[in-house]
Amino acid sequence: NMIYFNGEYVEDQITISPDDRGYQFGDGIYEVIRVYNGKLFTAKEHFERLLRSAEEIKIELKLTVADYIAICERLVKENQVETGNIYVQVTRGNAVRNHIFPESSEPVTFIYSYGSERPVQGMREGIKVITADDIRWLRCDIKSLNLLGNVLNKQKAHEAGAAEAIQIRDGIVTEGASSNAYIVKDGAIYTHPTDNLILNGITRQVIKQCAEENHIPFVEKTFGMDELLAADEVLMSSVSIEVTPVIQIDDRTFNVGPVTRQLQAAFEEKISSL
Ligand code: PLP
Repeated sequence: NMIYFNGEYVEDQITISPDDRGYQFGDGIYEVIRVYNGKLFTAKEHFERLLRSAEEIKIELKLTVADYIAICERLVKENQVETGNIYVQVTRGNAVRNHIFPESSEPVTFIYSYGSERPVQGMREGIKVITADDIRWLRCDIKSLNLLGNVLNKQKAHEAGAAEAIQIRDGIVTEGASSNAYIVKDGAIYTHPTDNLILNGITRQVIKQCAEENHIPFVEKTFGMDELLAADEVLMSSVSIEVTPVIQIDDRTFNVGPVTRQLQAAFEEKISSL
C-alpha cells in the first residue's frame, strides 16, 4: 500500500520518531475522509476543517486544500480503493520533550488509505447506545489527536454491548464519542449548536443540507436527557456510520422513524451524484 509521508510516497512502512509530539502530547490533528466508488466524498470540507484545526493549535501547514486533495486522489488511485477511508494525521513535529512549542520543528504528516465497507446493518436496523458523562476538554471543536475522553466512553459503550455513547455535559446532550447526535420531535431535527463543545461533523453539514433541501426543520439548539428520552426518533452521524438510527438508549427503546429514513435517502442521493 502506498502511503504519503512528509512529502514523499512510500510503500507500506513509515518510521515515526519517539520525539514526535503526537506521541508525547497528542499534539496534532487528524481527519478521516470517506471514499465511495473510488471518489473522495466532501474532501474540500474535510481539509478546510484540517486547516482550521491547525490554525487553532498554531501548527503551520505547508500544503493547501488542493494539495491535500491531489495526494488523496493519488493514493485512492494507486491503492485501488473503491469503498474506504483516508486517514490524515499532522503533528507539530519532532523535538526534545518539553511542553512549550519547539522553536523550530517541521510538521510530521502522513496520509494513508484503506478499504472499508459501508455499515449497512447499523443503517438498516439501528444501533444500541449508552449515555455517558462527557469528560472531555472544552475545545471539542478541534479535531485533535487527544482522544482519551472519547476512547474511554467508547470502551464503556463496547463493554455494555452498545455501539456508541451519547455524551452528556451538565445535563445537555453534546455528541457521540465519535459521532454527532440528533433527535427528531414533531417532524423537526434538533442537534447541539456548533460551539466549542462538539466537533462540527462534515456528515452533520451534509445532513443539514439534506434537511434544508427536504424542508425538514433543522434546529441547532441544545436539549437535555428528558428530551432525548422523549424523542420520536434518535439518530447519529459520522463519516464512518453515515446516518444511523438509534433503537436503544440504556434501557429505553426507540423505533426507526420516517425522518431518519428520509435523511438516509437524501444522503444516498449525494453519494450517487458524486
Ligand atoms: N464528533 C466526534 C467527537 C467525532 O470524533 C466525529 C468523527 O469522528 C464526529 C463528531 C463526526 O464527524 P464527521 O461527520 O466529520 O465524521
